[in-house]
Amino acid sequence: MYFRDLKAQYNYLQQDIDNAISQVLASGDFVGGPFVEELEENLASYIGVKHCITCANGTDALQLALMAWGVGKGDAVFVPDFTFFSTGEVVAAIGAKPVFVDVDKQTFNISCKNLEEMIRNTQAKGKWKPQVIIAVDLFGQAADYSGLRKIAQKYNLYLLEDGAQGFGGAIKGKKSLSFGDISTTSFYPAKPLGCYGDGGAVFTNNDKWNEIIRSYAVHGKGLHKYDNIRIGMNSRLDALQASILKVKLQAFSDYELDKVNEAANYYNTYLCEKVKIPKIEKEFYSSWAQYSILLKDNLERERIQNALKKEGIPNMIYYMKPMHEQTAFKDNDYLDTDYHVTKRLCETILSLPIHPYLTKEDIESVCETIVTSL
Ligand SMILES: *Cc1c(COP(=O)(O)O)cnc(C)c1O
Repeated sequence: MYFRDLKAQYNYLQQDIDNAISQVLASGDFVGGPFVEELEENLASYIGVKHCITCANGTDALQLALMAWGVGKGDAVFVPDFTFFSTGEVVAAIGAKPVFVDVDKQTFNISCKNLEEMIRNTQAKGKWKPQVIIAVDLFGQAADYSGLRKIAQKYNLYLLEDGAQGFGGAIKGKKSLSFGDISTTSFYPAKPLGCYGDGGAVFTNNDKWNEIIRSYAVHGKGLHKYDNIRIGMNSRLDALQASILKVKLQAFSDYELDKVNEAANYYNTYLCEKVKIPKIEKEFYSSWAQYSILLKDNLERERIQNALKKEGIPNMIYYMKPMHEQTAFKDNDYLDTDYHVTKRLCETILSLPIHPYLTKEDIESVCETIVTSL
């Protein structure tokens, strides 16, 4: 069994993917060009947003968004404490201050209540100017954007949606990656929509930011690549990845997203009375980047991990450490007592295999192993 079965997916899509790759090889257009442009159009129309700018990975996508807003030294950016390192890393990388915020214990997404407290604290300290909220669509479920939008308006902050795990999700039928002033995603192979290497994208309805991000992504270009009007980066998606993503986006919207939701529902019915299953909010739709259960304590989790390992069933702990405890942030002034929920999640969470090609038999064997070792 695989945690995310990319081989099964390739077997299924092999002919179309091989054809797509051959077309790029024959074209001689490897970076940028018509394959990338077509993909950007397809992605923008899938999400329902005016502009899609592809780039080298999801981390760069976040950084490009912050650069477009001119965020830097002296600015505070609010980031959930329970997320992948990138979300906080990019903030520090451009010289701003990541202020970590505890998460909601049901959805694991940034808590609006704690966010508002942290914004007020930061204002009171007066050392950093609140500028941006980064919300993460953790494990495939969108954050609480109606609450977040109100806070962003009240304190005059930009809202950045880190949808690296959120592609395919929705709230009341409106697609994830359309909720931020700028939204970003990652096409790392294990994400809901993945390529065969690194890739990422930025989405926005704003024409000016679209233009600035396209410039920053190609060495701060002006009229062309050799006219450089700002200090930028080299962050582009290549044509091979774009052609692969075109095939995978079709499969994703045709049936993969339905299939992965079927798998999650099957887990739910099997596990709901035994462990704490993931809670998807009413009128929210998840793309199930992860299926994560909560156990009683660290000991129970260890016992289950050992049992799963014995059966050859892969499992992961997302995430082991709160962001504020990462060594890279150790010189900061974070208070451990501000992060009760995140700390508890790190001790009790466990992610199980989930993907569109997972069979009912596989799910049954994962669940039986868990239930018998509780
Ligand atoms: C994977 C991930 C990223 C970074 O994406 P890369 O393409 O690996 O750079 C950023 N944020 C979150 C929440 C992620 O899960």
